[in-house]
Amino acid sequence: MDKDLELYDVTIIGGGTTGLYAAFYSGLREMKTKLIEASSHFGGKVALFYPEKNVYDLGAMPGATGEEIVQQTMKQAHMFDPTMIHNQWVETIEKKADGTFFLTTAGGEIHWSKTIILAAGNGEFSIVGPELFDVKKDENVHTTMENWKQYEGKRVVIFTNSRIGLDWACKIESIAKQVYVCNQKTTYQKAKEKDFQRLAESSIKEQNGVILKEVSRQHNQVKEVMVVNSNGVEERIVVDDVLVYEGIEQRSAPSQAWGLDTEQGRVLTNTEMTTNIEGLFVAGDTAIYPGKTNLIATGYTEAMAAVNSAKRYINPKASAQIYTTVIFRDKN
Ligand SMILES: Cc1cc2nc3c(=O)[nH]c(=O)nc-3n(C[C@H](O)[C@H](O)[C@H](O)COP(=O)(O)OP(=O)(O)OC[C@H]3O[C@@H](n4cnc5c(N)ncnc54)[C@H](O)[C@@H]3O)c2cc1C
Repeated sequence: MDKDLELYDVTIIGGGTTGLYAAFYSGLREMKTKLIEASSHFGGKVALFYPEKNVYDLGAMPGATGEEIVQQTMKQAHMFDPTMIHNQWVETIEKKADGTFFLTTAGGEIHWSKTIILAAGNGEFSIVGPELFDVKKDENVHTTMENWKQYEGKRVVIFTNSRIGLDWACKIESIAKQVYVCNQKTTYQKAKEKDFQRLAESSIKEQNGVILKEVSRQHNQVKEVMVVNSNGVEERIVVDDVLVYEGIEQRSAPSQAWGLDTEQGRVLTNTEMTTNIEGLFVAGDTAIYPGKTNLIATGYTEAMAAVNSAKRYINPKASAQIYTTVIFRDKN
């Protein structure tokens, strides 16, 4: 049967760390699970904004990088083989008379589900870069660091006007053959004195106020870029990889249009992660209640609670919680 037409027990909207963990937990609770992510990557904000940074406040994983956290959560998400979809933006949610949810996406795909867990964070973020690059087609143009060691021995050009781009440059400087930073503006958002100091002490070749004029490609790979500085001097740079970060675009999930009660753009909920729509639960940064914290660990806990609520919505006799040490007794 076409996977679009199958009725799932749980459909999770959003493949950030919260949604990924919900996919694992839903499988653990023996529910047929689908996860739909709008962007081309899983891991949400952690993967996009700080894959190279160490995170110290996640229980039992002190100092793991964002990338390691996403990798581990992905591994866990796949444990019970859920259907994982990306590049689909959920646009409409309709609850039919028989209680099933009917979802449509911006691309015209349809999905059916008994319950929904909304783990949409603050919506979909995408990184903006120079228009001459096509981040969908140019295979060596990246909008996130993802596995910083891939830049070992490479000539890397970073187009950025942000401290994030400077952080990337400093992170890979010691292993890359040469790092160039090209800023099409003259200032760096959020950069502090110490960022410029690090830059000055490094081998990074930084230029600001330059314009990207030309991009040469071979087989979907950018091979060379040509920039022009404010004096009209042209420079051609041979590249192995390009990173871009010139700002962010955000698309918010239309929670209100879906009929959800919201506050400050987030969906109102409680300790059971229920919403004003029966059968639709919420978890992670998209949820709000008194005392809410927007942290990775909070999302994991809320995902667990949302899944347990979905389980009991489908089967009121199901237990409120389970222990993996008991379920996997034979493996222990
Ligand atoms: C700079 C920064 C530093 C941080 N540092 C820390 C830290 O040190 N420790 C910590 O614990 N937390 C930290 N956080 C917070 C942490 O990143 C978030 O709490 C966590 O990422 C929330 O995960 P989430 O899955 O709920 O949301 P997100 O990561 O935002 O994921 C939501 C996903 O849903 C998708 N989506 C949205 N709408 C739709 C739709 N309609 N259809 C399909 N998909 C959709 C999005 O594309 C996205 O992938 C930090 C956050 C930032 C921004």
